[in-house]
Amino acid sequence: MTSRKILLIGIDGLRLDDALDSGAAPNLSALVAAGALHRLTMEVPTFSGPGWASLLTGLDHSEHGVFDNSFHGHTLFRGTDLLTQAFAGDPTRGTFVATGWPPIADPQGPGPIIATRPDQQRVGLHRVVIRDGETYGYRYADGDVAAFARLAIREAGPHASFVYLGEADEAGHLYGGVSPEYTSAIGRVDVHLGAIVAAVRERAAARDEDWLVGVTTDHGHVDQGGHGGADEVVTASFLALVRITPAGTTADGLPLPTAGAEAGTAVRPTDVARILLAHLA
Ligand SMILES: [Zn+2]
Repeated sequence: MTSRKILLIGIDGLRLDDALDSGAAPNLSALVAAGALHRLTMEVPTFSGPGWASLLTGLDHSEHGVFDNSFHGHTLFRGTDLLTQAFAGDPTRGTFVATGWPPIADPQGPGPIIATRPDQQRVGLHRVVIRDGETYGYRYADGDVAAFARLAIREAGPHASFVYLGEADEAGHLYGGVSPEYTSAIGRVDVHLGAIVAAVRERAAARDEDWLVGVTTDHGHVDQGGHGGADEVVTASFLALVRITPAGTTADGLPLPTAGAEAGTAVRPTDVARILLAHLA
């Protein structure tokens, strides 16, 4: 039987339309062209803590209680992250997270958003790669994260994975959301995306697997750089979905945005985890 797997790639602080229009992201553009693109509107405040918490747990801001990057007073225990939900659905499923932003998965906190699950880590069922992009820079962190992601996909083939790439957000803060530096950073992130998706393609073909791959962001950037407010360019997010099977990359059999949704019904950030998990069921 073909095994089903899911991978969510999170690109922090990505202005999708600029990435597509500038030609800086050919791999992301190809993925969008081959699959389906859903627009999301992020809830305010549009910081990474609350944004990724909503995308990865399906809880909204008032439910997970994350309103900034300190995670002070959070109530993440009210829900379960994407990887833990995949494991809970079938305790033989392997999971993987790689991130240069520690609050996604670092047990030292703040957060983390994705539960540490040391018992599963000890037996290789949950693999965690954390780099500190805040201290050492995201160009370095993303390089390691992408390399480990390719390795994990090739060797372990986890059933559910989340891979976080942060250099676009870093460049947005340093140089602004319409700067050549921001566009170049998007180009480097896109190279990582392409290599990770290529690893999925090889794995799916070699092992007869059926992958649902999603790409999303937690917020955009204002032109001068920064986010947190309700500006349209900052709340604009997306979920790009593509299915990768031994036959290749396809839009066939992609899940509906929401159960019984009418065409044009917007996907909410809190739908993302559920949409991906449905592929495993
Ligand atoms: Zn940021």
